[in-house]
Amino acid sequence: MSTGTGSLTALQDCGVLQQEVSLAEFTTWRVGGPAQWLAEPTNTDQIPGLLQWARERGLPVQMIGAGSNLLIADGGLPGLTLCLRRLQGSELNAETGRIRAAAGEPLPTLARRAAKAGLQGMEWAVGIPGTVGGAAVMNAGAQGGCTAEQLIGVDVIRLSDPQPTITHISRDELAFSYRHSALQSSQHLVVAAEFQLESGHDPAELQRRTSGNLNHRTTTQPYKLPSCGSVFRNPEPEKAGQLIESLGLKGRAIGGAQVSELHANFIVNTGDATADDIRALISLVQSEVNDAKGIALHPEVKRLGFETPD
Ligand SMILES: Cc1cc2nc3c(=O)[nH]c(=O)nc-3n(C[C@H](O)[C@H](O)[C@H](O)COP(=O)(O)OP(=O)(O)OC[C@H]3O[C@@H](n4cnc5c(N)ncnc54)[C@H](O)[C@@H]3O)c2cc1C
Repeated sequence: MSTGTGSLTALQDCGVLQQEVSLAEFTTWRVGGPAQWLAEPTNTDQIPGLLQWARERGLPVQMIGAGSNLLIADGGLPGLTLCLRRLQGSELNAETGRIRAAAGEPLPTLARRAAKAGLQGMEWAVGIPGTVGGAAVMNAGAQGGCTAEQLIGVDVIRLSDPQPTITHISRDELAFSYRHSALQSSQHLVVAAEFQLESGHDPAELQRRTSGNLNHRTTTQPYKLPSCGSVFRNPEPEKAGQLIESLGLKGRAIGGAQVSELHANFIVNTGDATADDIRALISLVQSEVNDAKGIALHPEVKRLGFETPD
């Protein structure tokens, strides 16, 4: 794509690039102000031109997936917000167990497809409402499994490249640890990921296990109200949820933000929460836990658009 006005107009005409779009619908918390510019590329070829266009105008670039681990400020985001959730698709090889998925592929979709093909290893991922790209960045995990265990590598575009091109980064270079990868501070846009699963398993058994994992989560976690999943990292060996619950903080609210009655490490939006409500409630929980237990809770959720980042 050239960065000329014609191409830009074409992208605007087909809805890939829009101005002043509320980001509340782009986060699972349903809060966040407008993006100055929002782009939702539908294929990888559109991305280099969008990045070049932003660079020529000196616009900062932010990347989001399904927005399921994000707190976006009420004031919104300046510059270009690149949302990858429409960059979907995956190829599974039932014989070798190899999977290649676009960054915007929903993780639950991939987990279900893998189980159906008899590929073992992603049954834990079915209840995580993020994208493949977000899972690689966050090293998302559940039920004892995590992204780093099956990931072979990611295809990325470096935001600062004057001529953006796709390069591959292998798993060993990604410094994975609990809910962390080197991608969190690298300014790399993930466009695709490759996984290695174990082939030749019984699809019916894998599908039973996958559905069981989802059922367990929907009965123990508040899936019916907007949230970002667990707000705080577990301060091992303690569990953040147990610490918060032990202080009687379940149900504590600021504005429309409430510590979930069902799971104390979730903050839910009961209807009209703002990002400021959520942020204030996060601070309140942190100071109560610190005062009572001397333990510092660190947010797992990423913040965008605030003066002080996480
Ligand atoms: C109900 C619920 C349950 C959850 N349960 C779990 C759980 O069990 N385990 C768990 O680990 N998480 C859980 N989460 C949190 C969340 O789903 C994961 O962290 C997920 O991996 C985030 O993916 P995303 O696509 O939504 O990323 P986003 O929230 O959009 O972004 C997260 C971070 O990744 C960056 N990013 C996203 N996509 C890209 C990309 N393509 N290239 C470069 N950077 C990118 C963003 O800039 C941001 O820093 C839960 C969330 C909800 C709402």
